[in-house]
Amino acid sequence: MERFGRKKGDAPRLTKEELQRQVVIIGSGPAGLTAAIYAARGNLNPLLIDAPADTEKQTTPGGQLMITTDVENYPGFAKGIEGPELMMEFRQQAERFGTEFLEEWINKVELQERPFTLHTDNKIIKAETLIIASGASAKWLGIPGEARTPNGFGGNGVSACATCDGPLPAFRNKRLVVVGGGDTAMEEATFLTRYASRVYVVHRRDKLRASKIMQDKAFRNEKIEFIWNAEVQEILGTHEQGVTGVRIGNPDDGEHFTLDCEGVFIAIGHKPNTDLFKGQIEMDAVGYIRTNGHSTATNIPGVFACGDVQDSVYRQAVTAAGTGCMSAIDAERFLDHLPVEMPGGEEVTIEGEYITPDHELIITATGEVIRNEPMPE
Ligand code: NAP
Repeated sequence: MERFGRKKGDAPRLTKEELQRQVVIIGSGPAGLTAAIYAARGNLNPLLIDAPADTEKQTTPGGQLMITTDVENYPGFAKGIEGPELMMEFRQQAERFGTEFLEEWINKVELQERPFTLHTDNKIIKAETLIIASGASAKWLGIPGEARTPNGFGGNGVSACATCDGPLPAFRNKRLVVVGGGDTAMEEATFLTRYASRVYVVHRRDKLRASKIMQDKAFRNEKIEFIWNAEVQEILGTHEQGVTGVRIGNPDDGEHFTLDCEGVFIAIGHKPNTDLFKGQIEMDAVGYIRTNGHSTATNIPGVFACGDVQDSVYRQAVTAAGTGCMSAIDAERFLDHLPVEMPGGEEVTIEGEYITPDHELIITATGEVIRNEPMPE
């Protein structure tokens, strides 16, 4: 890595529309929008890029709160607020201070050199700093019958989002299965009882992972029945009727049986949306981007990560928003410490360092002369 993450040399020849920004943010959930609010108020003219809505790829501008009903634990809303309404407030606040929005798929990122380069179908975007807030997506079981139609019953009785699909006529007064034992499963099961005749929660162990309050709410609900030590192994049905049942197995004794139902909701957690950055930035084994201690800095100077894409522990809207704020402050400080180019081609830094026009030497504030060589990793 070069000392300031930038190499001297010509920029690549650009053929598409080129945008250049001090701060580019990827993702429009609570983390990305909070980063945008702070960066925009800091006069950094941020560009926020998000994928268009796509049911196949499961992308929703606004993130997971767009598919949530009541948010009761976001501070400042004593009576609670609907997820989409909360995200609209975030977005309007980011807009108010001048955030620019772009809804396009990013096909490729180049993080080896700053400014970083992002490629969409129509644009090449150069970013002095990049804030990754691309969130996480629902996980699937990978069992027969789960794939999207025509290969399975996905979209025809199988869903990973009760709040998006539960109110559909196909699920009204029907028997529904929810798979999972975490907060998401409890929330989805409870929500589905508004529409379903019965909700079966199928969990692979005999203990829930969900918080006590969510468990209690589900246990108290007379429409919910728990099936313990049970794995959903196959989703059954026909293309005409959709889902007709699930095949359930007991992982301990190998016994299995069929449970009749008309809908299946998979609620077994999420995976971070980091495929775009694989091989270019440090991640953990699951794919969460690693950040540095108490900051949102990644292993690449000028690239920051916030929200669910780097948080496998808390994963709350309020913590995502908190890290979004941190990443904008981190990006602003990073930019403040970059060398500023002077008319003669020499550069100076906020610490009083002087970089020669040929970028070969750095003269520190105390007069020490050092060669501008890559920093040790
Ligand atoms: P989670 O806590 O990771 O729970 C996932 C559940 O799915 C676990 O019970 C797990 O079983 C089960 N599971 C995972 N893979 C499976 C597989 N292949 N087959 C069968 N079962 C499988 O995920 P989550 O429920 O989505 O919650 C994630 C985070 O968001 C948590 O921190 C949670 O508190 C938070 N959250 C909060 C709220 C709220 O406060 N309103 C709502 C939703 C989520 P095991 O238990 O056996 O591992």
